[in-house]
Amino acid sequence: MNYLVLGNWKSNGDQKALTAFLAEFSPVNRALIDGYRTGIAVPYHLIQAGDFGSAWVGAQNVSAFPPGAYTGEITGGMLSELGTQFGLVGHSERRHLMGETVEQTRAKLENLQQSGIYPILCVGETLDERNQGRLHEVLLAQLAALDIFTKDSSFAVAYEPVWAIGTGVAATPADVADAHRFLRETLAERGFGHVPLMYGGSVKPANAAELAAIDDVHGFLVGGASLKAGSFGEIDRAF
Ligand code: PEP
Repeated sequence: MNYLVLGNWKSNGDQKALTAFLAEFSPVNRALIDGYRTGIAVPYHLIQAGDFGSAWVGAQNVSAFPPGAYTGEITGGMLSELGTQFGLVGHSERRHLMGETVEQTRAKLENLQQSGIYPILCVGETLDERNQGRLHEVLLAQLAALDIFTKDSSFAVAYEPVWAIGTGVAATPADVADAHRFLRETLAERGFGHVPLMYGGSVKPANAAELAAIDDVHGFLVGGASLKAGSFGEIDRAF
């Protein structure tokens, strides 16, 4: 099983911040743990702006379209040319602020896969959806985008409850364990039993060890706490 600890800088950071981050950041020695990966999804303009060493560099989005007359879109091929190793798709900010649909997430996953970039599908429910008892229904609808993959495909799924993202309040270990069990069982039924399941939502050094110890948690997607090399390094060492 792969373990993944990936940061998401969102629309934060500049050349100076990346240089300072990379000078301080030292990921766990990957050579010792097969398949374990640490990386950061930076804004597009920083993908080639530093030496990421053994860490992966990722993108936070990709075009849902093929190359062509789609002004402003960055295709999977373009990301690949920049050396991008992984890509986020379906982050809750894109779904809820930019109105990204399941059809778009499906096309984006496909574009990343065809460009040789490791895709990560983010899924998660809002607080209203959870309170209405619709957690499984929402996750199943979002997972429909995975139908472009086959049993041999390489990708990850990140469970990110919307109410835990950027709020400082992570989901409880019991909530994470429940959601991850459901995701693991659902994915296994579709032949995706090998797919790593990450958790995201207010992961920080203080809660990383507890969350990392949960069955079926194979990594983290970290927003705010990934902006500082010190806190991201502590989270990285939780697995
Ligand atoms: C995220 O942006 O994916 C995220 C989980 O953010 P935060 O860690 O800040 O909650």
